[in-house]
Amino acid sequence: MKKYHIGKSKIHKKGIILDKSVKKDEVIFVFVGHEVTVTSRDWFHGLCWLQVGYAKWIVPCPGSAGEYLNHSCSPTAGVHGNNRIVAMRPMKKGEEVTIDYALSETYPLWHMRCHCKAKNCRKIVKPYQDLSHQRMKKYINYTSKYILDMKMHISWEDYIEAEKSVSRGRNFK
Ligand SMILES: [Zn+2]
Repeated sequence: MKKYHIGKSKIHKKGIILDKSVKKDEVIFVFVGHEVTVTSRDWFHGLCWLQVGYAKWIVPCPGSAGEYLNHSCSPTAGVHGNNRIVAMRPMKKGEEVTIDYALSETYPLWHMRCHCKAKNCRKIVKPYQDLSHQRMKKYINYTSKYILDMKMHISWEDYIEAEKSVSRGRNFK
């Protein structure tokens, strides 16, 4: 059964509002859509896309929850696996489901201005590798699987270099 409705957001237009309370780590919804591979400068078009792999994003189905998943610098939810959106703490009916977009975004050039009103708002939100270590640690259980896998195999410097070569049309080495 659906645990939310799309309603007025305090952050940005519409958002995902809970219809019932949920426990910490409970799955609120699965981010569904079609997968696209983007290695060009088209990156900017996908503000509500969820990154699920190296140069891979999920474009949410029209009207699905993913389109309304707002960012907050003090998020209520995070990511389990690559696309399960789960509560980061116990949440009550009426609260908005938000994630920190950096939890599933590593495209080096990606950034957006933030007006989330959280006390710890970063004003400019950048990809995962630009998070402070303190935040990385806080988010460790709510970070996209592909980011955690990548962290184990490659340094961020190498990753950014690799991404640049793909942007230039060469193969990832
Ligand atoms: Zn913010």
